[in-house]
Amino acid sequence: MDLWGNEDWWDREAEEKKPPEETDYEGMEREFYHCRACPLRREGGHGPVLSTGPCPAPLMLVGEGPGSVEDEHGLPLIGPSGQLLDRALLSVGITRDHVYVTNIVKCRPRGNRTPTQQEGYFCASRWLVREIGLVKPKVIVALGKPALRFFLGREAGIIRNRGHWISWHGIPVMPTFHPAYLLRQEGHAQVEAKWAVYYDLMAARDKAAALAPDWVWKSGNVPDLTEMYAQRILMRKELAESK
Ligand code: SF4
Repeated sequence: MDLWGNEDWWDREAEEKKPPEETDYEGMEREFYHCRACPLRREGGHGPVLSTGPCPAPLMLVGEGPGSVEDEHGLPLIGPSGQLLDRALLSVGITRDHVYVTNIVKCRPRGNRTPTQQEGYFCASRWLVREIGLVKPKVIVALGKPALRFFLGREAGIIRNRGHWISWHGIPVMPTFHPAYLLRQEGHAQVEAKWAVYYDLMAARDKAAALAPDWVWKSGNVPDLTEMYAQRILMRKELAESK
């Protein structure tokens, strides 16, 4: 149900937002850093945070929004949650430099609050859909409730829906727990949630690998993410300062 009480608003809008046809990732990124389209830009963060990873890529992971570490450095999922995600990816044979990682909302909600469904939809329909059009993922992993709700087009809970494939404009989407949720769990509950994420990531990787059989999923050596991130930070600075 939306702000005005219209029950089917999300379904209708989600249908209308197909990934556009475009090819210039850098052009999109240059535009992106100047976005001031919604009030989140004024909540006190350092500016929009886009992505890490290659374009195109058969597997895209979509999180929630930047936290304080991500906001400061301008890269998604690089703080404690991101580091846990990296370890989860490694457990299914993927290194972070071989997948595309982004968020539903690109500006940091004040106080690390969860973005509302309206905020998620507003931002994702402007930027995430363009990223999907450019990255052309074969499979998307939705990390947590805000990402699930965008792709499902309606209110839904992550506990009930994780591990079940959904389809967004023909792209298979696997919902799973956000790594921040795993960090909040303790003891047996945390172990159970980690196993759930392991099986969800494994299913996503298997499907993506079947659809992109030539893709290499893992670097030979442990990748130097610091170097990769430094290059992205530099590029972000240059593009943000360009007109
Ligand atoms: S949250 Fe998204 S739509 Fe809002 S200002 Fe940031 S980039 Fe733009």
